Amino acid sequence: MEKEELQSYEKAFLIAEDAVGFAQKLVKENVKVLKLAQDIENRILDLGGKPAWPVNVSINEIAAHYTPSIGDQLILKGDDFVKVDIGAQVNGYVCDRAFTVKIGSKSDPMIEASEKALEECLKLIKPGTKVHEISEVCENTVNEMGFNVIRNLAGHRVERYNQHAHPSIPNGKNTIQDEIRAGNVYAMEVFVTNGSGLVVESSPTEIFQYNQDVAVRLWEARKILELARDSFEKLPFTKRWVTGISPLKIGMAFQQLIESGALIEFPPLKEESNGLVAVTEKSVIIK
Ligand code: MN
Repeated sequence: MEKEELQSYEKAFLIAEDAVGFAQKLVKENVKVLKLAQDIENRILDLGGKPAWPVNVSINEIAAHYTPSIGDQLILKGDDFVKVDIGAQVNGYVCDRAFTVKIGSKSDPMIEASEKALEECLKLIKPGTKVHEISEVCENTVNEMGFNVIRNLAGHRVERYNQHAHPSIPNGKNTIQDEIRAGNVYAMEVFVTNGSGLVVESSPTEIFQYNQDVAVRLWEARKILELARDSFEKLPFTKRWVTGISPLKIGMAFQQLIESGALIEFPPLKEESNGLVAVTEKSVIIK
């Protein structure tokens, strides 16, 4: 890894670490999810990084990809399983982190299972380990603690301006032979549930990403596509980050961009049997 790349990653890692500590103190009953996400995003900016995606605050059976909308009124309630997924980037180099809090409880067996399994996986993330070896330890550790992994979610490699690079490291057992390599960065995330262990797409979608330039009719749609490509640097973004567009036009503009294939969508992912979900995620640089 070149010096500039390593320095950028190290800065992104420090910022993400700080943002996680900052966020952990904010997750409390009666807190507005919109304010929570904005406060964390602003913290990342204050520290000289950029949010690599909108902060995800996914509650209970929602495993991932919920970010508050403009004017979102959702508040955190007692007993909620709150998953906060934070991405910080410096020059496009990303650190991906997530943690879970059960409001009103110091600890919880499902959260402990995801932390323990992540720890076991991280011990194996070193040059030469095969993906299936990590996944096997992940699933076995979670099962031994009495829970299921979410089989269709995965850790993954990250690369510059790509938050989800090949290979994926699934939470469930598989036969993937790809090896961990020196010079790469990996984000390992372990999703644990008391449900059946699969996620399905849900709604409403608030997370989008640039896909390609397409000629679209509405001026507002062209403006959003320009922001997605240039300001958000082709990383995921959300409607509440889009300024200077009339709220009356924003829905139609996004619709044009989705239908034309200019943007891709990341809908919220819900555990299919409505099981509760906990996640823990850390990123590592393999030197
Ligand atoms: Mn991730």
